[in-house]
Amino acid sequence: MSDIGHAGALLTVDLAALRANYRLLRETTGPAACAAVVKADGYGLGAVYVAQALQREGCQDFFVAHLQEAVALRAVLSQPARIMVLHGPTPGAEPDFVAHAITPVLNAPEQLSRWAEIGRPAWLQFDTGMTRFGLDPGEVLSALPLCGVMSHLACADTPAHPANAMQLRLFRDIAARFPGLPASLAASSGIFLGAAWHFDLVRPGAALYGVNPQPGQLNPMQPVVRLQGRVMQTRAVPAGTAIGYGLTRSTTRASRLATVAVGYADGFLRSSAGTAFWHGVRLPIMGRVSMDSIVLDVTDASLPPDALVDLIGPDHDVDAAADAAGTIGYEILTSLGSRYARHYIGA
Ligand SMILES: *Cc1c(COP(=O)(O)O)cnc(C)c1O
Repeated sequence: MSDIGHAGALLTVDLAALRANYRLLRETTGPAACAAVVKADGYGLGAVYVAQALQREGCQDFFVAHLQEAVALRAVLSQPARIMVLHGPTPGAEPDFVAHAITPVLNAPEQLSRWAEIGRPAWLQFDTGMTRFGLDPGEVLSALPLCGVMSHLACADTPAHPANAMQLRLFRDIAARFPGLPASLAASSGIFLGAAWHFDLVRPGAALYGVNPQPGQLNPMQPVVRLQGRVMQTRAVPAGTAIGYGLTRSTTRASRLATVAVGYADGFLRSSAGTAFWHGVRLPIMGRVSMDSIVLDVTDASLPPDALVDLIGPDHDVDAAADAAGTIGYEILTSLGSRYARHYIGA
């Protein structure tokens, strides 16, 4: 209990599992280099802790989305680390990239022409079919020193989707126009499409943090996150007792209910219709998720007072929590709340 202080929940981040996930991805993709995507505060887990742990594991390339994320990382990552900003520079931000030794990914022709005046190397991103970021494959380019060329897959989590092979063909043609330059196509799920997708550098994010890169198949990654909520109150109620806002759910038997101090303001999504767990025992969520609390049916568990129940944990991983909320593991992680006590283990 001392770990949690007075917080309503304890978020434990296992940095040893994170490092093991990095090693697995690197072994799967070698001889390609393995970068780490640590945008959105390291998918909610704490970019500084995550990036430092991965740097100790030998990772040298770090991708974030925004300049301010990169500047924060630059303060803690020693110089050999390369930090790339996926969104590239907004107009006028170019000198800040130079000042903090941050490399942009250039996506649009306007970004390219502004950066060309700086004369420093950058990554170039091409759009090969996702229609989000990147130059059109046929775009005419101003001369510019380059770190590499990249693109991003739209359907990598669906191996049979024909877009994967189409994007691969297009990207091969693009990479061939830049002989000798590193090329990068695969994020977490793309890595598991096979060696043809690996090129010179892979860019996993979610898989590092334990999200299954192959939905529907056995998850090869180790769990990194455990979220335990604190029980604040329990009560015994008869059958037919209605619970929570709107009184949308009632007990169907004499029950013991527990109120836990985690709600949608903590990123515990209001759409969550799932369960918590106590040492393998399912504790169904009863009624609506409130801003600061949920109510669990704990009739089948013998909870001690002040128990910490698992909302994400050994019996219920990030992907299961996502399924229960009708979303994906990415959103569960990036929604994780700022009110949790955070504990980093395995450093
Ligand atoms: C977010 C992102 C990644 C990482 O994706 P995951 O699916 O989390 O591995 C890689 N590349 C780009 C361009 C991204 O935007």
